[in-house]
Amino acid sequence: MSDEINSLEDISSTCNFIHNYIQEDLKDNLSKISTRFPPEPNGYLHIGHAKSICLNFGMAKLYGGKCNLRFDDTNPTKEDTEYVNSIKEDVKWLGFDWKDRLYFASSYFEKFYDVALKLIKEGKAFVCDLSAEEMREYRGTLSTPGKNSPYRDRSIDENLDLFTRMKNGEFPDGSHTLRAKIDMSSPNMNMRDPVIYRIAHAHHHSTGDKWCIYPMYDFAHPLEDVIEGITHSICTMEFEDHRPLYDWVVDNCGMSAKPRQIEFARLEMTNTVMSKRKLRELVANGLVDGWDDPRMPTISGLRRRGYTPESIRAFCDKIGVSKANSKVDSSLLDYCVRDDLKSKVKVVMAVTDPIKVIIDNYPEGQVEFLDIENNPENEAMGVRTVPFSKEIYIDKDDFMEVPVKKFFRLAPLKEVRLKGAYFITCVGVDKDGDGNITAIHCTYDPQTKSGSGFDGRKVKGTLHWVNADTAIKAEARLYDYMMLDNTENPDGDMIINPNSLVVKECFIEPCVKEAKAGDKFQFMRNGYYCVDTKYTTDKKLVFNRIVPLKSSFKIK
Ligand code: ATP
Ligand code: MG
Repeated sequence: MSDEINSLEDISSTCNFIHNYIQEDLKDNLSKISTRFPPEPNGYLHIGHAKSICLNFGMAKLYGGKCNLRFDDTNPTKEDTEYVNSIKEDVKWLGFDWKDRLYFASSYFEKFYDVALKLIKEGKAFVCDLSAEEMREYRGTLSTPGKNSPYRDRSIDENLDLFTRMKNGEFPDGSHTLRAKIDMSSPNMNMRDPVIYRIAHAHHHSTGDKWCIYPMYDFAHPLEDVIEGITHSICTMEFEDHRPLYDWVVDNCGMSAKPRQIEFARLEMTNTVMSKRKLRELVANGLVDGWDDPRMPTISGLRRRGYTPESIRAFCDKIGVSKANSKVDSSLLDYCVRDDLKSKVKVVMAVTDPIKVIIDNYPEGQVEFLDIENNPENEAMGVRTVPFSKEIYIDKDDFMEVPVKKFFRLAPLKEVRLKGAYFITCVGVDKDGDGNITAIHCTYDPQTKSGSGFDGRKVKGTLHWVNADTAIKAEARLYDYMMLDNTENPDGDMIINPNSLVVKECFIEPCVKEAKAGDKFQFMRNGYYCVDTKYTTDKKLVFNRIVPLKSSFKIK
């Protein structure tokens, strides 16, 4: 999305139904828009959250309005400051700025409490002594109305007394709740006297032991929006049925702001899991290497793997926003990162499955330094010099002793081009006692070095290679999708793809010697790679493969 707009026509191409609502509501006052991204700090953010971040911050930016970062930390048991810090880091890294608008729902606890008192005083809320199980029985079903709680008609004074004592810690967890008095016969179950406060003697990451009653999400969230003057509260589809309750709280809280809740479909992707709870389980059970395992769909995992903020934002743009739930093919994200990196990063030669090539007629001890362009798509990136000598490595895949049809790479008596160097022809192989090839022998044609007196003959294959003497040894971690898609049992547990990580030793040309953690490269004819931030040391370079160069996904 662009930074500024001059007229609504400018943005018609990026418009979705949310834009329509906003334009309808705010008309000539579009810069009054105020949105929020409201994560619960109970885990690390994933790419689904990125969709919501791009939408909320993007919308505010587009119209010149504001977007708050608000931690929805009203549930003390699962929340932690480690998560607060990681979420801040991730939002910033994605390229969004909440400026001075960092808020914590827990700092509104006093205000929530005041609204609860107001509702009690107006006869709109009551303290209920039903147990959770009894409450379920009274609640009715989708086809039968609920029954009023026997405690529903308590006097205002009794309710005030009990609620104060709940707050003062006189009652154990689960013994009492505060419920909104709405309508037990409503066809919408959420309106059947929903619980708005519960007792939980639990330590809160920010308010400590000050409170032992905590507001429920459906009560707290609209109030948070009202307090912050949010105009459009964008959330996922599962809250659609909660909207009447959202509006009820807004209308009855006694404050003037009237935020509008708008729902959109959450992002789901193939071959991965997209719920903090499931991701937390993978981490807790040691099935992955932490929240930032490069296979994880977490922002920190994607960052460590080497995905760029630009590619994630482009992905969020491409998937669009709608109300219909659907699964996005994970390879679309791969497409986006390739598209972002293709003209940005150095293209270097690396061999992940090495076999030695000895060039019999190349002078012993001679080294040449060849100029090779850093990125064929971006001339401005210049050239680098790459050493070449008698012994090099190529990828095993690029040689076949008995070539199949249409194999245009190296084979006995076949000629190929070495990228940026010479034409070579295979003249023989060395084998060990078991018949495995240990080295390939070739001759080179000195005339084929770019420029000098070459006869113009063509070869079909061009191979990447690495000079043996100066090769940098590194570890390459090749990833596949994290989960096997469970098509036979879609509701069952997903299974980790056993081939989702393959570790290889590889040889790379010397220019990567100075590479730092987080640096990205294209390994020619192979894929995009990023220097791992966790396992790289002074002595060892570890590369994560971000994506292979090719995949089946095509986009116009
Ligand atoms: P999860 O189910 O993964 O725990 P959540 O909805 O509980 O996610 P929150 O921290 O409450 O996580 O989410 C913060 C915001 O991000 C909410 O507005 C939520 O609607 C949005 N969000 C969460 N998951 C997705 C998703 N997969 N796609 C789009 N938006 C999402
Ligand atoms: Mg949640």
